[in-house]
Amino acid sequence: MPAVLDPNSPASLSGAQDAGPVKPLPIDAARLCELANELPTPFHIYDEAGIRANARRLNAAFDWNPGFREYFAVKATPTPGILELFRDEGCGMDCSSAAELMLCDRIGIRGERIMFTSNNTPAEEYRLAKEAGAVLNLDDLTHLSYVAERVGLPDTLCFRFNPGPLRGGNAIIGKPEDAKYGFTREQLFDGYRQARELGVTRFGLHAMVASNELDPRFFVDTARMLFALTVDVYQSTGVRIEFVNLGGGIGIPYRPGERAVSYEEVSAGTKAAYEEIITPAGLDPLTVFMENGRCMTGPYGVLVTKATHHKEIYKRYVGVDACMANLMRPGMYDAYHHVSVLGQRGEKLDAANAGPVDVVGSLCENNDKFAIDRDLPAIDRGDVLAIHDAGAHGHSMGFQYNGKLRSAEYLLKEDGSVEQIRRAETYDDLFATLPS
Ligand SMILES: *Cc1c(COP(=O)(O)O)cnc(C)c1O
Repeated sequence: MPAVLDPNSPASLSGAQDAGPVKPLPIDAARLCELANELPTPFHIYDEAGIRANARRLNAAFDWNPGFREYFAVKATPTPGILELFRDEGCGMDCSSAAELMLCDRIGIRGERIMFTSNNTPAEEYRLAKEAGAVLNLDDLTHLSYVAERVGLPDTLCFRFNPGPLRGGNAIIGKPEDAKYGFTREQLFDGYRQARELGVTRFGLHAMVASNELDPRFFVDTARMLFALTVDVYQSTGVRIEFVNLGGGIGIPYRPGERAVSYEEVSAGTKAAYEEIITPAGLDPLTVFMENGRCMTGPYGVLVTKATHHKEIYKRYVGVDACMANLMRPGMYDAYHHVSVLGQRGEKLDAANAGPVDVVGSLCENNDKFAIDRDLPAIDRGDVLAIHDAGAHGHSMGFQYNGKLRSAEYLLKEDGSVEQIRRAETYDDLFATLPS
């Protein structure tokens, strides 16, 4: 058995990995190879059964809170074929832009099943969100008069809280006091008072203070903080907050040996905090929401690519037909994504290590690497590689630099069939915005 990596080592795309199937793929290796030999590579593929079972598990964990809802963060995987799965599992949608609102419209999601959590928001997008009946989650106190004047205030409003230097934050979202999001505590109290004077009748409170966090206590602490604030707001303004949105940010085990966050643990801690803070203050019922993206789709998506070249200079390289345009997290955040070498038919998973290589794309940027100094099995030209945990903030972060085309997306359905849920871009798409 290969040794398991230290789960406490910092997230980085550098470093050794195990050659064996220590980190399971959501989709069978032989099936991925079969598809890679049928369909043009690279492509993203998602596992419907895994996505649905995970959504059910999160919803079931919070069933003590009657109105609980997970609003899927659309930006993680903004593809209707994926959004429909969450719609059917009873989730809402967390949108932050006009395009994301349009996607909700496309799949028939309206009203309070949309939470509009944006920042630096143009009036036009607030208008679209209001027309869709979405819950507007304002990012700043000045947006109260801005929305009142330009769009008209809805009956319900939510405010995003930034707790400032009291809390830690983490690598992706940064320290709260350095983050551009949300109201200060003082601004929140003013906001609720002013909103009530302006005729708003229903109120929510939101915070999102971390991203890709694997410690369940972090989410319980966030709930505790928001529950205490709900009580403080009631006692000093008389405004009764109806729902609290704990944000997203539940991390996923990108590295072998890391442990997934237990929804049951987050839920149990949140329930205890509720019973300790909300119930005695007489503020029960208070509805709890979350708006996760990463943990809802990340582990259930794979970027499938083929080896194109080998190169040996001062280091060893394996070139693949995917690049940062298909998955930019390694280049953007130095993020670790596990790579499994499947070979031609899925036979290589247990192969011996052939020593460290950099797995690279073809962009003219030296950070276009999926892995650095990674111990992988010997890779032949044409071998299929599976890049794990590409289901969230993967395809959606794609771009067209260097004229690279974004890949197709497929869904492995529960009945075993494969459906194309987005075609690959073509050169016509790429040049469509030029004058003819
Ligand atoms: C990105 C984002 C989310 C989802 O974050 P994940 O890390 O994908 O769970 C939720 N809410 C807001 C406001 C966000 O910006």
